[in-house]
Amino acid sequence: MSKQLIPFISRSIIFGVLLLFTSCQPDESLDLTEEEEEFLPIDQFPGVDAELWSYYSNFEKEAAARGLDIDLFVANITGEISEINEEHVAGRCTFSSASPNAITIDKSFWDRSSPLFREFVVFHELGHCFLGRGHEEGVNANGTCKSIMRSGVEDCRDNYRSTTRAAYLDELFGAIDM
Ligand SMILES: [Zn+2]
Repeated sequence: MSKQLIPFISRSIIFGVLLLFTSCQPDESLDLTEEEEEFLPIDQFPGVDAELWSYYSNFEKEAAARGLDIDLFVANITGEISEINEEHVAGRCTFSSASPNAITIDKSFWDRSSPLFREFVVFHELGHCFLGRGHEEGVNANGTCKSIMRSGVEDCRDNYRSTTRAAYLDELFGAIDM
């Protein structure tokens, strides 16, 4: 008998155990056929790097929570993660006649950043590209920036954390009259 059969079997067992654990989740009792799976409502954005989809989707959700009906699918704002060869630039929103709203996020920044910091930059760029906001300077008494639309040129400290996120998003969407 081949010796390789044993490791293969033990791997199968481990896999089976993992499956068992996940199938204990109450929400996962539904078995879908392949056909049904194709129609699962996943938020996809054409022309946008798949890694950015959840950020685009959360932007819509946070806007909706503040009474703004935003559809980035329809807005067709492209998004890509690629190297921006300019120091200290994490993202950019560009306008041109060929591509009216295009977001680029710096790959080096992306690779080293937490989901929250990634969100900060994606939302800042959507603030330009979708909300049409310019830069908003302003410093709180404790030295932190008043807006995530800060330019980075003024002397304020970014403070986008799980505890301050809601207030920053209130400011981001609150400035918009739709
Ligand atoms: Zn900016």
